[in-house]
Amino acid sequence: MDFALTPDQERIQLAARSFAEKSLRPGYQDRDRSSEIPRYLAEEMGALGLIAPGLPEELGGLGLDALTMGLLVEEVSRGDFNMAYLQILGALNGQILARHARPDVAAEFVPKICRGETLIALALTEPGTGSDAAHLALKARREGNDYVLNGEKTSISLAHQADLAVTFARTGSEGEGAHGITAFLVPLDIPGVHRTRFEDVGSNIVGRGSLFFEDARIPDVFRLGEEGRGFTQVMQGFDFSRALIGLQCVGPTAVSLEETWSYVTGRKAFGSPVVNFEGVSFPLAEGETLLEAMRLLCYKTLWLKDRDEPHTAEAAMCKWWAPKTAFDIIHNCILLHGHGGYGKETPFQQRLRDVMGLQIGDGTEQIMKLIIARERVGRVAVPY
Ligand SMILES: Cc1cc2nc3c(=O)[nH]c(=O)nc-3n(C[C@H](O)[C@H](O)[C@H](O)COP(=O)(O)OP(=O)(O)OC[C@H]3O[C@@H](n4cnc5c(N)ncnc54)[C@H](O)[C@@H]3O)c2cc1C
Repeated sequence: MDFALTPDQERIQLAARSFAEKSLRPGYQDRDRSSEIPRYLAEEMGALGLIAPGLPEELGGLGLDALTMGLLVEEVSRGDFNMAYLQILGALNGQILARHARPDVAAEFVPKICRGETLIALALTEPGTGSDAAHLALKARREGNDYVLNGEKTSISLAHQADLAVTFARTGSEGEGAHGITAFLVPLDIPGVHRTRFEDVGSNIVGRGSLFFEDARIPDVFRLGEEGRGFTQVMQGFDFSRALIGLQCVGPTAVSLEETWSYVTGRKAFGSPVVNFEGVSFPLAEGETLLEAMRLLCYKTLWLKDRDEPHTAEAAMCKWWAPKTAFDIIHNCILLHGHGGYGKETPFQQRLRDVMGLQIGDGTEQIMKLIIARERVGRVAVPY
């Protein structure tokens, strides 16, 4: 077992950290008052190869391994957790397009996603189905060389500002469950697509909203893969994005701990720096322990992916445990700042609000635990 990064990984990690320190971290809190991803920042990330570097070079990626991609997500989210959404969605959707879109369609859209010129959403959840996504209802009806989409997607990250959405629709009957679902690439500026935006607790520049499809017509070349295979396609991708989400949560946790160590070393009470008290240093020491465990779990999951070994259970572990642990550690960091920690001028409250979203988004804790149970003992452990 070798925990060392390669010289290339170290170089790329350092470059990403320097970008995040200079260009992302200073504006993280100001951007909380905005409702859109600054396109110039997306393009800067794209120019540095930070959005979807795991994709093949001919599609605008760098052909990097999954672990290196994870290192880059961790670094970006140290500066701005929300800008890392572009990496998660770019990598997940980019991988679906690279594998399942017609080559000319992939060649047209994927490089723009990698460059940060095009924002792409993933539209799976509906008003009636979230965890139980296999029973989605949005309909795609075949008409000649087109598909006509009708229905609603909801709770979609970037819904109000994305240019494209990988959209999952029912082409078969309801009775077919997951086997009747097909994925489509949908440009969101076509007639028949309308959007709304929610008011959320956090991740304001990402935003969530609904996408309404009313006789929205797309050519059949925008179908991704075979009819009825859409659900399997997205589920394969989730194993990757779940480990990346874990590392997205590692970033703000690490900087929160660093800032809190520094604060408690300078702050004095009862004649000594408060870090002198075990009631202060021990929660931080525990936080460091959990942080290291989170990071290693995510790295191991990506390492398994790079070796083409099964990693579904590990990915689900990353997804339920990292956002929850990040939330708990950042919460402690707020408490250890005393009254100052409660103020909006510190970044802690924003980090807390931001990471909380991913305790739900991309699958809840309960669903992740069902996946882990299923991986251990089979379908007997899941409701159907
Ligand atoms: C910040 C954020 C970003 C999101 N981004 C996207 C996106 O980009 N694209 C997209 O498609 N969706 C997105 N979502 C939606 C998200 O994936 C769903 O909210 C999530 O899958 C849960 O579905 P639900 O909200 O319908 O909850 P429900 O499925 O209604 O569940 C409600 C509660 O019941 C629990 N529950 C349900 N079934 C079981 C069971 N069998 N056993 C135990 N407990 C169970 C759940 O864990 C949850 O606590 C996002 C959500 C958030 C909060």
